[in-house]
Amino acid sequence: MSRFTLVIHGGAGTILKEDMTPALEQAYLLALDNALNAGYAVLEKGGSSINAVKAALVVMEDNILFNAGRGAVFTKKGVQEMDAAIMDGKTLEAGSVASVRNVRNPIELAAEVMEHSNHVFLNGKGAGDFAIRQGIKLEPDEYFFSQFRYDQWKSIRDSDNYSLDHTHQQLEELMKDKKFGTVGAVARDSDGNLAGATSTGGMTNKKYGRIGDSPIIGAGTYANNNTCAISCTGHGEMFIRAVAAYDVSALMEYKGMSLKEAMHEVVHKKLVAIKGEGGMIGVDNQGTPCMVFNSAGMYRAFRSSDGSQEIAIYS
Ligand code: ASP
Repeated sequence: MSRFTLVIHGGAGTILKEDMTPALEQAYLLALDNALNAGYAVLEKGGSSINAVKAALVVMEDNILFNAGRGAVFTKKGVQEMDAAIMDGKTLEAGSVASVRNVRNPIELAAEVMEHSNHVFLNGKGAGDFAIRQGIKLEPDEYFFSQFRYDQWKSIRDSDNYSLDHTHQQLEELMKDKKFGTVGAVARDSDGNLAGATSTGGMTNKKYGRIGDSPIIGAGTYANNNTCAISCTGHGEMFIRAVAAYDVSALMEYKGMSLKEAMHEVVHKKLVAIKGEGGMIGVDNQGTPCMVFNSAGMYRAFRSSDGSQEIAIYS
């Protein structure tokens, strides 16, 4: 059996130990561990990388700590609009949804689009109607409510500013204290197939209809058995402009770079050049994991069948 690996993230940003309480730090570490266990269990039983990334993301979407599913940030209109994508590295099939509301697990809906719609990308009401038709689990608005994200939205809702997921600071503070709570997973299964998935509530106070990088194939999410699977987190506008996830794959395919070299090139050079803060996780077609970010921290973890593993928050 060949090497299998799962890598996950729960967002990057100005995540500093001095801002964290021991209890909150423990809660994040436990949440990452739970997601890792759920996804890795699928791989251990010989399951597919697609099912592994989905399983890991559902656990994080259900956890209020992350900006995805339950606990997603508020838009300018004071509601949650969520984006998600999943990609199969074996077939290059992909499914994405954008600006969806009341969907408990947007990643399940993205997978449904990939498997049962003849399309790649559905948005807004069309995606919502598709969810209903396919029997995807819905929840009322209250389910998604989190007090701390409501408070952070209240502090900027009367302005034109939007921000990355953060905690309780005023706007100036915010700009230097950015956190991104998007969740993502990439995996290589024992058959050598790669998959990538990302899910997010986007950015606090984002305009009606704003779509970030997460659901855009090639920007926030990508998978290709020839090279790698990638999931990004950060200031989405820059990741879209950098075509960040696909660029890693292209650097590997056309320039012969390793996963690590390609991720460093994109995160520390290309993104930095356009002030794109954030990071990404990746796995190559040998099962090598990689986690790279240009922000202060990134909630991240991996486990591999060669016995290696890591769960970390700060740089
Ligand atoms: N990349 C996401 C977006 O721009 C935000 C995040 O990573 O938290 O929508």
